[in-house]
Amino acid sequence: MSEQHQARKRFGQNFLSDPNIIRKIIDAIRPAAGDRMVEIGPGLGAMTEPLMVRLGHLHVVEIDRDLIARLKAAHPPATLTIHEGDALKFDFGSLVADGAPLRVVGNLPYNISTPILFHLADFADRVKDMTFMLQKEVVMRMVGAPGTEEYGRLSVMLQYRFNMARLFDVPPGAFRPAPKVMSSIVRLVPRPASECAADDYALLGKVVTAAFGQRRKTLRNTLRDYLDEADFAAVGIDPGLRGERLTVDDFVRIANHVARRPPAAGRSGG
Ligand code: SAM
Repeated sequence: MSEQHQARKRFGQNFLSDPNIIRKIIDAIRPAAGDRMVEIGPGLGAMTEPLMVRLGHLHVVEIDRDLIARLKAAHPPATLTIHEGDALKFDFGSLVADGAPLRVVGNLPYNISTPILFHLADFADRVKDMTFMLQKEVVMRMVGAPGTEEYGRLSVMLQYRFNMARLFDVPPGAFRPAPKVMSSIVRLVPRPASECAADDYALLGKVVTAAFGQRRKTLRNTLRDYLDEADFAAVGIDPGLRGERLTVDDFVRIANHVARRPPAAGRSGG
């Protein structure tokens, strides 16, 4: 890829350029021949090429037409299948129509990190694992524990679907151009369906959003549309707590209580 590519801010383009870091990330992914894998945002191919060598074939989803043209010129479809377009709208399920689980990787564009994680969570039942580079601050929120500052909606909604681990950090100098922030590699492995026990995932999302909407307020206030004092007693949760104190299981218990309880006059939530 000889001609210089001008990095586009609007596509969150920071290209990996440190060969040691690239090797470390590929080793962390542990690609094995025959794995079905898709890379989000291959860019100039820093991870794409070593992945293709190990796998034999790779899918990529890329939005930038210039980069797509480069990738097409450099790699035949037998080794690289290029899906042109927005990963936020991409149907990852279409890659696993025959049931083989999908591995998802990428140095994700940081400007769409939260929406892409929520989009991918919808395919958790068809995914084997996902390994991403993201802003360190986002990764800390993903893996944050109850009671910490980082713990919030992103933590609960992703921890509901995935076991996650922060693997290592990557400094700005590993990229061209260098981003302003530190990055981290994170691995997400879907939890068994039996552990994801919310009757109504959308309702769980609403309850969690309400609980963290005003972080300094107690659950009695933030969840007033969903729970009254008797409901709090029934689920065994102190209404004087703040949302950040609740575990993922607590939120599931609340959402299921709301989903299962008979409708009552004058109640707006549920
Ligand atoms: N993987 C390359 C690397 O590590 O050097 C590039 C990483 S760069 C941070 C993000 C990549 O995602 C860019 O190639 C960018 O064009 C692409 N991208 C940005 N927004 C996208 C979207 N909505 N859908 C698909 N690709 C996107």
